[in-house]
Amino acid sequence: MTPEEFNTAVLDWFDQYGRHNLPWQQDKTAYFTWISEIMLQQTQVTTVIPYFERFIARFPDVQTLANADQDEVLHLWTGLGYYARARNLHKTAQIVANDYYGEFPQTVEALEQLPGIGRSTAGAVLSISTGKRAAILDGNVKRVLARFYALEGWTGSTANQKTLWEYAERNTPQQRVGDYTQAMMDLGATLCTRSKPNCQSCPLQNHCTALKLGRSNEFPHPKPKKQIPVKQTIMLLLQDDQHQTLLQQRPPTGLWGGLWSLPEVADLRDANNITGLCLDIDSAEPLEPVRHTFSHFHLDITPVRVRCNNLTDCVMEGNPTLWYNIQQPQNIGLAAPVKRLLQKYTRTSK
Ligand code: SF4
Repeated sequence: MTPEEFNTAVLDWFDQYGRHNLPWQQDKTAYFTWISEIMLQQTQVTTVIPYFERFIARFPDVQTLANADQDEVLHLWTGLGYYARARNLHKTAQIVANDYYGEFPQTVEALEQLPGIGRSTAGAVLSISTGKRAAILDGNVKRVLARFYALEGWTGSTANQKTLWEYAERNTPQQRVGDYTQAMMDLGATLCTRSKPNCQSCPLQNHCTALKLGRSNEFPHPKPKKQIPVKQTIMLLLQDDQHQTLLQQRPPTGLWGGLWSLPEVADLRDANNITGLCLDIDSAEPLEPVRHTFSHFHLDITPVRVRCNNLTDCVMEGNPTLWYNIQQPQNIGLAAPVKRLLQKYTRTSK
């Protein structure tokens, strides 16, 4: 699909199905467009409409807003959230009133210098209020483009941001730029929605890569989960010749509180000191490590088997202990990875 085919399809759809009666569309000044764009960040159109109308009734132009008390601006913003937006709005109004004689600058670069205005908002203000060719890439447009091109990876990564801006620039038409800006926002908000996009009604359906792959719902990919730290531990599988394994109860609070687990040491050389037992560490057999993941860290467990034939009557220091027999398992709560280790490494007598 060429860029011309892309933007023609979107504009044709917009003429028939787009939103044309929003309050900020009635007078497409830079001031109205800017206020609406800032209010629409992270907020739905239906929520924004009454706020926009109240705000404009009180502050009909940039000079009135610049002269207002910040308290009053914040008051009219109450309920919209993200109050930094309102504070930046007020600051920008003062800069436009004082430094630009009340007229918004007419380049993306100059608009981007104003508090709270990023590249996409600058593009929207410029294209809608002046008809100058400028691309936008708000959340809605990102979603449409990420799906249309089946862009793998998180859309917020530097490389994907660059690619998405290239797509956005490429498809922006020379004519009717303001309508195209509105059309792309409408398409994302009404058809190419976050969940269950309405592809059957979409003007891009015949060329949309995500749809062709049957993966519309998979794009855009979510932000990768934050890296969590990795902790290490050694778990001792102390096993007697009756195929029993020594378990120790965890303290009542904290990780795996009250559950039964394998005795743990940070360093195998400390095993005798920590357990209070006389283990033959030289015969210890390290087994395949396993990873258990908690919400806030990974625990890499190295199980180490130690044969101990004369410990049956020994009592380990500290918390209660028991000998666990997998063939006649006691009714006790086991930490999940411990259960798996017991199943894997406890030999049966057969
Ligand atoms: S076809 Fe579906 S997934 Fe593709 S752009 Fe249209 S609504 Fe979005």
